[in-house]
Amino acid sequence: MKHAITIVAAAVVVLIAAAWIAMQFVPVDLWLYRRAAMDRAGAPDIQLSKPGELSVLLCGTNAPLPDPNRAGGCALIAAGNDLYVVDTGMGSVRNLMVWHVPLEKIKGVFFTHYHSDHIGDLGELRLQTWVAGRRTLLKVYGPPGVEDVVKGFNEAYSHDADYRTAHHGEKMLPREDVDLVPAVIPMNGAAAPALNADGLKVTAIRVDHGPVKPAYGYRFDYNGRSVTISGDTAPYHPLAVAARGSDVLVHEAQSNVMVSILGEVLAKADRPRPAKIMHDIQTYHTTPVQAAEIANEAQAKLLVFTHINPPLPTRFAERAFIDGVSKVRPDGVLLGRDGTLIHLPGHSTVIEQTSLR
Ligand SMILES: [Zn+2]
Ligand SMILES: [Zn+2]
Repeated sequence: MKHAITIVAAAVVVLIAAAWIAMQFVPVDLWLYRRAAMDRAGAPDIQLSKPGELSVLLCGTNAPLPDPNRAGGCALIAAGNDLYVVDTGMGSVRNLMVWHVPLEKIKGVFFTHYHSDHIGDLGELRLQTWVAGRRTLLKVYGPPGVEDVVKGFNEAYSHDADYRTAHHGEKMLPREDVDLVPAVIPMNGAAAPALNADGLKVTAIRVDHGPVKPAYGYRFDYNGRSVTISGDTAPYHPLAVAARGSDVLVHEAQSNVMVSILGEVLAKADRPRPAKIMHDIQTYHTTPVQAAEIANEAQAKLLVFTHINPPLPTRFAERAFIDGVSKVRPDGVLLGRDGTLIHLPGHSTVIEQTSLR
């Protein structure tokens, strides 16, 4: 027995030594690289929704204060085979690419408002949907002002498109297909129709994000299922009315208690400019408890927090962030993360939660 153990131990040592020696050679590195590339670059596109299903994928859940684990504000709606993006915060397109989302299927972008943390990646989305095979101009819907934003991005990225068509050819990247086209959604009352196509109804909802006026949320209805996205807003009763009966309410959330602490720390550290910002931003966002109250009023089945402010680096910070929420809303609450994916099969009450991370 002792002899057998000695032989096994010697074999293990020899194997480890052989593996260590092999790791010193570049051909082995390249073999490992090929294996990793097959797993990642070689993976098929993800199917976000089955036929008849409405899904929502959080492609960015960060607010402006940087969080290395979260991209800027972004949600992807999948209605059967059709994809729509709500906001394109910084880093969100990279998330979509890492997750193998078929970008050429994105039929439109809906902007809630034009704060930089919601539009930063529009140029990247314009490019990457085109490279992936988009062959129609990409429509960008939003409040008045969308014409300026779209015109600016088209101009800023025009040279980039010229280079790529010259490099890869008109057949692969037809220059005339690259551009974005604006579609203003006029708003006179509390809500306005934004789109009605292939069974998907999108409604723009006025929200309260002054001095940003107007700012919108969006409600998506498809096959008897619904998702409402708040956009950036202070707690706003008409949003609950417009979101009434939604299966999922994706609502922004900011802990003013934690933002105040951050402001005090910054002031003590002699950083008056960000300290003032921490003070100013408390008026036009919604606390997690207030978002829970809105979700209850809307009778939403699942509330998902997004646009998380401030960043939450630990589980303890996450616990502090949602403090008091369970008293208002004991169930049906989810702290959203990049990669959170929720499926709503058509004409049912099922809510399936999963994650791409
Ligand atoms: Zn924002
Ligand atoms: Zn904003």
